[in-house]
Amino acid sequence: MGKTAMDKYEILKKYYGYDEFRDGQEELIDALLSGQDVCGIMPTGAGKSVCYQVPALLSETVTLVISPLISLMKDQVRALNQMGVHAAYLNSSLTFPQYKKALGLAKEGRYQIIYVAPERLLTEEFLDFAANANISMVAVDEAHCVSQWGQDFRPSYLKIPDFIKSLPKRPVLGAFTATATKEVREDIIRMLALHNPHLTITGFDRKNLYFEVRHDKDKYRGIRDYLLSHPDSSGIVYCATRKNVEEVCDRLLSDGFLATRYHAGLSDDERRANQEAFTYDERPVMVATNAFGMGIDKSNVRFVLHYNMPKNMESYYQEAGRAGRDGAKADCILFYSGQDVITNQFFIEQNRDNEELTGQALELVRERDRERLKKMTFYCHTTDCLRDYMLRYFGEYGPNFCGNCSNCLHEFETVDISQIASDMIGCIASSGMRFGVNVILDALRGSKGEKVLRFGFDQNRYYGSQSSQTVIFLRQVLNFLVLNDYLAVTDDQYPIVKVREKGMAFFSESGQFRPVLTMKAAKKTAPAPRQEKPAKKHASLSQAQSAPFEELRALRTEIARAEHVPPYIVFSDKTLESMCVLLPQTREEMLAVHGVGDLKYQKYGERFLTLCKKLAKPEPF
Ligand code: ADP
Ligand code: ZN
Repeated sequence: MGKTAMDKYEILKKYYGYDEFRDGQEELIDALLSGQDVCGIMPTGAGKSVCYQVPALLSETVTLVISPLISLMKDQVRALNQMGVHAAYLNSSLTFPQYKKALGLAKEGRYQIIYVAPERLLTEEFLDFAANANISMVAVDEAHCVSQWGQDFRPSYLKIPDFIKSLPKRPVLGAFTATATKEVREDIIRMLALHNPHLTITGFDRKNLYFEVRHDKDKYRGIRDYLLSHPDSSGIVYCATRKNVEEVCDRLLSDGFLATRYHAGLSDDERRANQEAFTYDERPVMVATNAFGMGIDKSNVRFVLHYNMPKNMESYYQEAGRAGRDGAKADCILFYSGQDVITNQFFIEQNRDNEELTGQALELVRERDRERLKKMTFYCHTTDCLRDYMLRYFGEYGPNFCGNCSNCLHEFETVDISQIASDMIGCIASSGMRFGVNVILDALRGSKGEKVLRFGFDQNRYYGSQSSQTVIFLRQVLNFLVLNDYLAVTDDQYPIVKVREKGMAFFSESGQFRPVLTMKAAKKTAPAPRQEKPAKKHASLSQAQSAPFEELRALRTEIARAEHVPPYIVFSDKTLESMCVLLPQTREEMLAVHGVGDLKYQKYGERFLTLCKKLAKPEPF
C-alpha cells in the first residue's frame, strides 16, 4: 500500500512541515476522504489548497485541480514540486509541444496532482486523457468564478459539469472560494451540481493583519516614511488610477526605493517582468492598480498600503487580504482623503461596465454602489475597532476590541463638540444648504479664500467662529455629524452638505437646554501608535533577533537564486522567524520548526542548520 499507510497528520508534517490543521481544514479533508462533495469557504490565506492536496497525497489516483489563474497554478505546482510531489499544470502558458509532453507524462501516470485551466477541459486531447486516467477527485479552486453574481465570472467554469459527466466514474468534487455571499455560495453548489456537499465556512477574521486608517495631509510622505521604517519588507501600494501608479512609482524610485509598477495600460511584457521582479524580491515594492492581484500568490507580502480608498469594503478586504498569507504579521494601512470619495462617486456615475444594464436596473446598481461607497467611507471615519467594523460588514460578529488596529491601539478622549456642531449647522443652514464641505469648513475657520469671499461668507454670522480649530478636526466633526444623521452629503458630482431633521432639532434647542454632544477623538498628545515604535524589521522579532534573521534571509535568497524559485517557496517568512527564535541545533529540532518538512529538510536542512549553529554562538568580543 505504501503511501496510504500514512495518515493525514503525517502527510501534513512530512510534506508541509506543519503540526496541526487550521480551522476548517480537517473536516473538509475528512469529508473528501469519505467520498462526500465539499464546499469550502475560507478567507484568502486560510489554507484552502491543503484541503484538497492532503487527500490527493493520501490517494493513489489522480486529482485534478481546476484553476482560472495561470500564475497561481504555476506557484502551487512549483511549491508541490519543492515538497517532492509530482504535479504539473496544463494551461495556455505552455507551448503546444510542451502541452503535449505534459499530457503524455500525465497519461503515463506520472503526476498525482494536475492543475488545469477550465477552458482546456472539453478539448479533445484532454478528454482523451481524462477518459483513461483514474481521476478520483476534482477540486475547483476560485469556485465563485462560476457565479454571475460576482465580478470574476468565467463562462468556461460553466463547462465543468459537462466535463464531470464525461468521466467514466464520477469523482468526488470539492469547491473552494474566499467569496462569502449567500448568492455566490448557492450558485456554486447548484451550478457545479455538488451532491449533498459538506459546507464549511470559516471565520473571515485574519488575526495576523494589523489595520489602520490614516488621514495624512501629504499621503506620499506617509507612504515614504512607512517604507523607510520597514526597509527589508516587501509589499504593495495600491492606487486608484494608472496615473497615480506612475507618479507614486516614479517618486519612490527617485527617492531610492526598489519599486516597480503594474497596471492595465502597460505592455504584457512589462507587466510580466515587473510581477516577476516583485515575486522574486528583486523589487520588493509593487505600486499597482487593482489590476494587480488576481493570481498573485506571494506569501511574504508584509504590507498593503492604499494610496487611495477603494470603492467598497469588498475590494478593500480582498486587496488588503493579500498581505500576510504566510500567517506572519503584516500591515494593512489605508491613506484616506476626501478626494477619494469624490473620485469614486465619479466612477460610479460614469460606470458603463455592463452594457446590458439600462434604465431602472442601471440606477439600481448605482444606488447599491453608492451605498457601498458610503460604508467604505464610514470605515475611514469610525473611531471604533476597524476589524469589528469590517467583520460586521461581512455579517460576522466582531470582537468589539481587537487590540490590533489603529483605533484599538490609539488613545481616544471624549470631547464636547456641542458648540462646533451648532456653529457648523448654523453656517450650513444660514447659507442655504448650497455648498460643499470645503467651503463650509473654510468659512468656519474665517478663511479669506476666493470662494469664501465670492459667496459672501464674510458676512455670515458664523464666519470665523471656529478659527482656532484645525481643518482636520473640523472635518472629523463634520464626518461624525454625517455618520450620526445630523448632516448629509449629497451624491452629486459636486457634493453638497445638507442639514437633516435631527441636525435642525439639535440646532434649534440652543442655549442652556441644548443637549451636550460628544465625540470620540484621537488624543492630541498621544503619538500615532505605529510611529512611536522604533523601526523594526519583523514585528514579532526582538531587535536582537533581527540580525540573525537577516542572515537566514540571505541564505534563503542565495538558495532561491540558485534554484530559480521565489524565496518564499524555499521557506516562508514565518518559518524563518520561528527558526530565528528557536535556533535549532539538531536535525530533530530543525524538523520541529513550523514549515520544515522531511523533504525540505533533505534539500536545505543541513545548510540552515549549519547557519543556526553559527548564529547560536555568542559573538567573540
Ligand atoms: P488560500 O488558498 O486559502 O488563500 P493557501 O492554501 O495558499 O491559502 O495557504 C496559505 C498559506 O498557509 C500557505 O503558505 C500554506 O502553506 C499555509 N498553511 C496552510 N495550512 C496550514 C497549516 N495547517 N498550518 C500552517 N500553515 C498552513
Ligand atoms: Zn480593533
